[in-house]
Amino acid sequence: MHITDIFQASSPTFSFEFFPPKTEASVERLYHAIRELQPLKPSFVSVTYGAGGSTRDLTHDLVVRARKELNVTTIPHLTCVCHSEQDIQSILQRYAGHGISNILALGGDPPRDLAGYDKAADAFQHAVDLVRFIKKFNGSGTHPDPGGRGFGIGVAGFPEGHPGTPNRLTEMDHLKQKVDAGADYICTQLFFDNHDFYDFRDRCELAGINIPIVAGIMPISSAKGMQRMAELSAGSRFPAPLLRSIHRCGEDPDAIKRVGIHWATEQCRDLLDHHVAGIHFYTLNQSDATRQIFQNLGANDSGGLRQ
Ligand SMILES: Cc1cc2nc3c(=O)[nH]c(=O)nc-3n(C[C@H](O)[C@H](O)[C@H](O)COP(=O)(O)OP(=O)(O)OC[C@H]3O[C@@H](n4cnc5c(N)ncnc54)[C@H](O)[C@@H]3O)c2cc1C
Repeated sequence: MHITDIFQASSPTFSFEFFPPKTEASVERLYHAIRELQPLKPSFVSVTYGAGGSTRDLTHDLVVRARKELNVTTIPHLTCVCHSEQDIQSILQRYAGHGISNILALGGDPPRDLAGYDKAADAFQHAVDLVRFIKKFNGSGTHPDPGGRGFGIGVAGFPEGHPGTPNRLTEMDHLKQKVDAGADYICTQLFFDNHDFYDFRDRCELAGINIPIVAGIMPISSAKGMQRMAELSAGSRFPAPLLRSIHRCGEDPDAIKRVGIHWATEQCRDLLDHHVAGIHFYTLNQSDATRQIFQNLGANDSGGLRQ
């Protein structure tokens, strides 16, 4: 289903993000988690693209299988890093051939092994170039969307700012370029203080950005996970009250998990009270935290959260 139809049919949206596992055992664990999350009736799910395009086929296979088995709109992430125009063209063609309706168009993280990586050699330097290319592809009429719109397009937004552009005014110009190029929605980086999200949303509105902005939420599930999160989301703030709550748990992993879920639950409750367009859960391929948050909010599924 095209993302604009999803937003029109039932807002706010509730969506889940997965990453493609690399081993058979973790594939089975992922499908177990997905089956446990299915009763929550997500508006859509999304599948990440490994740094430097390292999961090109794995992402494709998971997207196609998840859509078929779960009968839910599945959105592949796609990044510019290490790709030629021809690469992107054939990836889009393959997704179009499988009836995939939307793409999350991203700049992308550089490959883990930086040796030999030359950013200047990438056909697309920024996500905006990818958005423009997808729009051009949409214009070619290759995509089977019944409305002739081609792929719906999502882009990333950073409530606390992206480390690559310290000038926040310039950064907003870059985001606006992606929207003007044809993005249909924005999904944000994780954040722990909702004020950052509300301020970002206001700044978007001032910049003339009027597409839905979906809030990215990642519950802290362990001390190690928190460290990894801090690394991956480069620049995310961990507010002192959150850190104090985590420190109080000492070495107790269950307590840390409980605190992380409680914090994320309160974030979601507050976002819903402030009419968020959607909440995107970074699940890390686990079901417990997301299911617990729904339960804490008194809902059996996404429909319940919309009451
Ligand atoms: C929701 C979400 C999902 C993600 N999923 C993945 C994933 O699956 N795989 C992955 O590898 N990474 C993923 N990332 C990480 C993301 O790719 C990186 O954080 C990347 O550095 C920024 O992506 P972007 O799409 O905002 O890039 P861009 O929009 O290209 O922006 C990157 C930087 O370049 C600047 N910039 C943009 N346009 C211009 C311009 N015209 N001129 C000069 N500077 C410009 C921006 O201000 C910013 O600082 C995800 C991030 C988010 C928020």
